[in-house]
Amino acid sequence: MAAAVPIGIRSAGPDWALRRDFARLLVVAVVLPALILCALLAWSQSAKQRTDAATQLRSAAEISARGFDEFLQVHGAATRVLAARRGAEAMEDRGAFADRASWTGDLRRLRDQYPSFATMRVLDAQGRVIAAEPADRTGVSPGPCFDLVARDDAPASSDVYRAAPNQPPLACVASPIRVNERFAGIVEGAMRVEAFAGARVAWLRTHGYEAVLVDRLGQVAYASSGLPFQAMDRLDATGGGKALGAVAPGAPEAGWQRVDGVLHDDADAYAIAMGLDSGWRLLVLMPKETLDAQLFRTIATMLGLLVAVAAGVLGIAWWQMRRLSMSVHKLLVQMQRFALEHASSPIEPKSMPQELAPLADAMNSLSDRMADAYRATSRSLEEQRRLRASLEQVVDAREREIAQRTAELRNVVAELDRLSRTDALTGCLNYRGFREAANQLWREARDNGTMLSALALDIDHFKAYNDRYGHPRGDNALKRFAGAVRSALYHRDDVIVRPGGEEFIVFLPDTTLEQAVRVGERICASVLHADIAHAGSPVGVLTVSIGVATNLPEDGDDPEVMLARADAALYRAKHQGRNRVSL
Ligand code: GH3
Ligand code: MG
Ligand code: MG
Repeated sequence: MAAAVPIGIRSAGPDWALRRDFARLLVVAVVLPALILCALLAWSQSAKQRTDAATQLRSAAEISARGFDEFLQVHGAATRVLAARRGAEAMEDRGAFADRASWTGDLRRLRDQYPSFATMRVLDAQGRVIAAEPADRTGVSPGPCFDLVARDDAPASSDVYRAAPNQPPLACVASPIRVNERFAGIVEGAMRVEAFAGARVAWLRTHGYEAVLVDRLGQVAYASSGLPFQAMDRLDATGGGKALGAVAPGAPEAGWQRVDGVLHDDADAYAIAMGLDSGWRLLVLMPKETLDAQLFRTIATMLGLLVAVAAGVLGIAWWQMRRLSMSVHKLLVQMQRFALEHASSPIEPKSMPQELAPLADAMNSLSDRMADAYRATSRSLEEQRRLRASLEQVVDAREREIAQRTAELRNVVAELDRLSRTDALTGCLNYRGFREAANQLWREARDNGTMLSALALDIDHFKAYNDRYGHPRGDNALKRFAGAVRSALYHRDDVIVRPGGEEFIVFLPDTTLEQAVRVGERICASVLHADIAHAGSPVGVLTVSIGVATNLPEDGDDPEVMLARADAALYRAKHQGRNRVSL
């Protein structure tokens, strides 16, 4: 019989497991596709982000460029309006043109209206300052706007310049004053570059951009603090500036252009150039680091999403596997109960997945059937035990009865056997008993090497007794005679036999001839003393004659020889006168 293996302990089995397969399936079907999807999403997101960033950069640059243009237009228009009005007035009144006080009043009002003007001046056709506001600017050189306006006889704006060394950089707008269709001078407004560029560039910086404003000569008018340029420097003085200067103002679809080592600490940036109406250029830069950080955030978000999705999926899978394994455990416990307890409480199919519910039902039904079978078997075993017990009782009783009957029969047979060898009248052995006793005593004496004596007895004149007293009294006399003989024998091994009639044999085991003679004489005396009256006898009572023979039995001898000798001795005792013992 195979050794019982406890349920739930599996020594060896197939090398595949649902959990491992499920995990592989999960990786192949969910995690890998999710990873690829996330990579694709990250890639498309980053591409979109680049496009969006470029678009935003361009929008910011366009808004700022428009702001600059409008600013210069508005301030140029202010000079233009004043020049036109005073030109018209001068046509009617020639003195009006030279009226410094009235120019000063106009210039002051205009500066109040447009505070960005650092200085406002009126110059005549030779470039001499007629009026200035503030007034201390009167003696300063004509400035770059005068030449431009005088040359073209049209409003103009200048490149960046300094009114004097160590003065902040300026830019001016100016319009010609025409009197009678002739160039008579200019109205000029000078603005500190920082006054009109600072706020706009600061706005760009709040959006993470750097910006540089470059004039027509390629000089830096204003640069944000993230750029290594100083006002009035030539943009192409450095390698990064040169590359930045090469960025051409283009259509929106031209996108941006990467410029390496253009920022402080040689960082890279993406740049867009905008041409202004004044011929200046606005270069707006987005540090590559900013875009990289955005891309990194996007990828990190995607990865976070992926990790969250994977964790969620794995968590759900783990939960499902746990539910599955708990259900399987329940079924296993049920099976163990089958094996150990023969009965168990039913499993609740609702507590496990739908797929396992039929198994639970089947197991419940199997459990019920097993319980029924167990109960039936128990009942049957109990019945068998009861039947066997009662059968054993019956058999025991029968066996006792048979044993009792057998013992009784054995006693009866023994009694019958004894009776078959016993003379009914005297209780001595009969002829059959005599033959057996003779042979047995002969064998025992021979085996023991002892003497065996035999006495042959014959009642004297017994025919006469019968004749005188009758046969029944004869039988009675025989009984009394046997009693007298028995009382003369002292050894329990001595055996009396009545082979027939009124003749008796007495065997005396381990008895010599002399001892046997003495026993014979004692028998004669005992019979005489029994005093059985016999009127037909010369003595008057019943007497007996005895022949004695003794033998040391040897191999090949026969008890008959000894008995024949005893008979011969008896014959002699009769002839010698009866009532005696003879050898
Ligand atoms: P003796 O031996 O002295 O020579 O004379 P006896 O009269 O005894 O002679 P015998 O042996 O011829 O006689 C035996 C008699 O014993 C004959 C028979 O009547 C009698 N007898 C033998 N068997 C029985 C018996 O069973 N019962 C009775 N009552 N008598 C028996
Ligand atoms: Mg006789
Ligand atoms: Mg006789």
